[in-house]
Amino acid sequence: MLQSKVEYRASARKISIYNTLGGEKAPFDPIDQSEKAPRVTVYVCGLTPQDHSHLGHGLTVMRFDMVRRYLMYRRLNVNFVQNVTDIDDKIIAKERSLGINPMEMTRRFTDEFYAQAALLHVRPVDKLIRVTEVVPETIRFVEELIRKGFAYATADGSVYFDVSKKDDYGKLSNQNTSMLYESVRKELDKQKRSPLDFALWKRDETSSLSQPSPWGVGRPGWHIECSVMIHEVLGDHIDIHGGGLDLKFPHHENEIAQSEAYSGGRLANVWMHSGLLNISGQKMSKSLNNFIPLGEGIEYYGSALMRFVVARQHYRSTIDFSDKLFRDNCNSLLEFHRLFARVADAAPQPSLIDDAETTSLMNAFEQAMDNDFNSPESMVVLEQARNKIVASLDKGAEITAEVKHRVGVLRELGHVLGVFFDSLELVETQGLGFVARLLNVEPLKPHEVTALLADRVAARAAKDFARSDEVRNDLAKRGVEVLDSKAGSTWRFA
Ligand SMILES: [Zn+2]
Repeated sequence: MLQSKVEYRASARKISIYNTLGGEKAPFDPIDQSEKAPRVTVYVCGLTPQDHSHLGHGLTVMRFDMVRRYLMYRRLNVNFVQNVTDIDDKIIAKERSLGINPMEMTRRFTDEFYAQAALLHVRPVDKLIRVTEVVPETIRFVEELIRKGFAYATADGSVYFDVSKKDDYGKLSNQNTSMLYESVRKELDKQKRSPLDFALWKRDETSSLSQPSPWGVGRPGWHIECSVMIHEVLGDHIDIHGGGLDLKFPHHENEIAQSEAYSGGRLANVWMHSGLLNISGQKMSKSLNNFIPLGEGIEYYGSALMRFVVARQHYRSTIDFSDKLFRDNCNSLLEFHRLFARVADAAPQPSLIDDAETTSLMNAFEQAMDNDFNSPESMVVLEQARNKIVASLDKGAEITAEVKHRVGVLRELGHVLGVFFDSLELVETQGLGFVARLLNVEPLKPHEVTALLADRVAARAAKDFARSDEVRNDLAKRGVEVLDSKAGSTWRFA
């Protein structure tokens, strides 16, 4: 991977990140103050594998993968940890109603999800940790919270966190306990001291996932699981905690309360939340019947185009997956890959590291990304560089060592955003599939388009304009637009 020339210590200080805690952008300063490649600890809440994962899960991992790749590009030694919530109310409900083995089910959905993430070029996590691996550690953590006076056990064998003992509860979501008290449903749980208190340990003798504890047979509550997994893998103080915006309250608020009550210090320096996903202007939900499993989404839009479209939106924004959004972007992706195919042996050359064109490209790219990972702006920078190179090649410029270097740098900067890993053929195949699905026709293969274009050239040479028009119309019906120029005929997605 291309490395920027900028000294890493100076550059690391230049990355500004929007911190949900406090609601401001601030320069990122790693906890590890080493001069060379300091460690940066990142924890992103992961999957509750009780069903096939959906587009929202895919969106979150793609966005945090981009964050991780950029931190790595800036020579930070990122330790990226994600969890699997394999003990959960919904999983246990399925165990009860369907009689399935919960461990077998959660393994299957977890493996499926990370295989799909790999298709989207999401890097494998450095450490994947499962709740089922840390139940004894959870019991010890809860005991410590009770000992410190932040939690209490009830007569029925559950344990709750006492929100009234944590003065700063609500600081992440900017709510205070009196506001929250107004908003919570007045629960009829007589065991709890306050409706705001949340379960750390739930009594449950029905699940195979339950284990004995000092309070009886039971299992951890959802929020405590993340606090314990972070503590076990990364320690009490981490650099960045991430997750989808829907987890901000109560999940992340409760993680903060538990972890900070336990350690007495701060849990995470930076809280990052990725924006939500809409489908054609509506929130994706099972009740609206627009719930799209990740596998189906990849099949429909194509993995390369999906990753490209996600990089074109800021990670904090709500993204609206609509056919129009994908249609609007498919030709830009195609143009990048046409250039990569045209300059086939493009690669960054160490001897050309001072090339003025690439230096200014990298500077503009980094300036955008240093500003809270502004990938849409950095993508515009890449598009402008692409257009400039294509225009000069179209005018007859030779493919020199400099051109190969520039195209190589362009492609590697794209890799930082998670794009441009695939071949032109795959991009064309997936794109032809997508436009054909929009038109409800059989998709063409790239070699079929090439053959039809050759047919048309032959028809035109023979002055058979009826046949030439017929081919053009047939291609249009399959989502392919023919472009004629002095250099010959080419095509793009219609
Ligand atoms: Zn979590």
